[in-house]
Amino acid sequence: MALFFPTAMLPKAYDITVQQLQQLGVEGLILDIDNTLTTHDHPVPNDRILAWLSQMQKEGVKMILLSNNRPARVAPFAQKIGLAFEANAKKPLPGGYRRAAAAMGLSPERTVVVGDQLFTDVLGANLAGMASILVEPFQMEPFFRFRVKRCLERWILQGRKRGKNA
Ligand SMILES: [Mg+2]
Repeated sequence: MALFFPTAMLPKAYDITVQQLQQLGVEGLILDIDNTLTTHDHPVPNDRILAWLSQMQKEGVKMILLSNNRPARVAPFAQKIGLAFEANAKKPLPGGYRRAAAAMGLSPERTVVVGDQLFTDVLGANLAGMASILVEPFQMEPFFRFRVKRCLERWILQGRKRGKNA
């Protein structure tokens, strides 16, 4: 079960501060897109996310996008916010995470993964030996398979709070 535990949980990506990153000992962020930086398939991040991204860049935090979505969705989004990306990343397989960290010139220990899903973002981070920050999804996806996953995620997180899955 430990493979599904994030290092930290926050309401939204824009709640992440440079001080928290320093406490985690990391210099770079691997960012999920859908429901982490924006709603599913939405072409641009909202204003608070944009402001947060530029603040992180100003503070010298390295960032890269890692998404299981298709290149036609990911590339224009990445271009708009000026970040490198990998689409079709096959999360939770750890290969994409390792390539993303290497692309930032960082070791896995100096990298933290930010995403909204335990079964892709967080699991992959743990498999790749990286810290992770789980954020609440921007919106609940209407698709059934996502709803099933969300129920499982809630169950695991509640179990963790009760200390039953430790
Ligand atoms: Mg996501």
